[in-house]
Amino acid sequence: MASMQLKESATSSFSERILHMIWMHQRFRNEKCTTTDGHPLAILHPGFWNYGPGPDFRSAVISVNGKKMNQADIEIDVKASYWRSHRHDLNPSFNKVCLHVIWEGPVPPNHPLPVLELSKYVRESEIDLKKWANQSLPEIWPELIQGKCSAPLARLDEESLQILTCQASLIRLRIRTREIEEEAKRVGFEDALWLPLVAGLGYRNNQWPLLQIGRMKKILIEGLSRLDYENALMTLQARLLGVSSLLPEKIPASQKPNQKYLKKIWTIWWRERDKFEPNILPVSIWNMQAIRPANHPARRLATVAHWMLDKRFFKRLEDWFNKPKQARTAMQEMMELLGSYPDEFWSCHWSLKGDAMRRPTLLMGGQRASDLVINTILPWFLARIIQSGQEDLKKRVERLYLTWPRLADNQSLKLIRRRLLKGQRCDWIKSAAHQQGLLQIMKDFCHHSNAVCEQCLFPEVARSLKNNPPS
Ligand code: SF4
Repeated sequence: MASMQLKESATSSFSERILHMIWMHQRFRNEKCTTTDGHPLAILHPGFWNYGPGPDFRSAVISVNGKKMNQADIEIDVKASYWRSHRHDLNPSFNKVCLHVIWEGPVPPNHPLPVLELSKYVRESEIDLKKWANQSLPEIWPELIQGKCSAPLARLDEESLQILTCQASLIRLRIRTREIEEEAKRVGFEDALWLPLVAGLGYRNNQWPLLQIGRMKKILIEGLSRLDYENALMTLQARLLGVSSLLPEKIPASQKPNQKYLKKIWTIWWRERDKFEPNILPVSIWNMQAIRPANHPARRLATVAHWMLDKRFFKRLEDWFNKPKQARTAMQEMMELLGSYPDEFWSCHWSLKGDAMRRPTLLMGGQRASDLVINTILPWFLARIIQSGQEDLKKRVERLYLTWPRLADNQSLKLIRRRLLKGQRCDWIKSAAHQQGLLQIMKDFCHHSNAVCEQCLFPEVARSLKNNPPS
């Protein structure tokens, strides 16, 4: 609970974390609020706590002076002046903020947003609120987070939920396959696989820069066929790290053993830099917020270097698919296929600067490999099969897709479980398809409604399944 500790300041003794909890649980007299400029404010739903960068709450439903907003972002700060001092006014991620919730005034003149001053409406003393906030886990969401479909879904048995989500996941597979078919018409089948594979290494934050790097493949491997594998790899890693601006400006002065690699590639890059000048991406393109060491873009680029040099890369993928196998074996093989290249430095380091790991590790773990299989590799094989008319192979893709082990949990899935499944234990979610199905339901229904589920048809669908279980 360290993050819940109170910030002692002259103006307020509340931390933003406590203000977030007060807002999320609507623990204030919210029936008769007005904004600081006197307009009536109705809060129909506080929105969903955003754990990533950007505004604190997304997709709230509020009404200011009678004007209803269905997808309002909410920013919460101790003081109104933080809007400008935290540079939210210049950040496009904050463009949809419709209400600035602060603990207490003053509100600067020309403040661009309606402001709610929470301190005027809290029912309890500061001491009681702090006690409540320190005792409550921020992960416990209030009941109003539950969607209208959660009650009919709770009446379905586990098998029905599994069948329902598998069916939804197959729709997701077809949609992704169609996207790849369209992409293949533009760039050809090989690039329709290569580009999303490389982009997929960037997760949500860094897909775009990795996609740009993927597009530079031809330029980056130019002239490398003359070198032996070791020198070609070192040169290519230097080029990749150089064009992505992830190398330090100066050659490192330290004599530590882990700096040897950095010095080598630094020296290669600075000899070649001018040649690649037009391709260099600005360092600001990378978003390093909340990146785990294993996912650092530098390590991902080192892996891409191996893929680029591997002349049998696509052939090995085809061989993998052409040998029928159980999903668990397929996952193990894919992890080795994508990440088991020998690499003296990167198999023992998470980043350019850190110390060596105790034991060498694959360049890619099972979770990342699985994400790539579910989102790119299987839809790509299905697109190829559809194009070549080999209908009998469709079943192989679907079987792998439906039986693939669960992927890593994420914030979207956590929110879906809270909204659709009341945050209860979800032991029936056993496969990636169950997760993909939930994500598809969210895309098809939640994204077309609002936080209070207005006009959503899914509760009706879920009710009808009680009498006609999916099969
Ligand atoms: S919008 Fe629809 S699918 Fe989403 S939580 Fe509400 S009722 Fe459920």
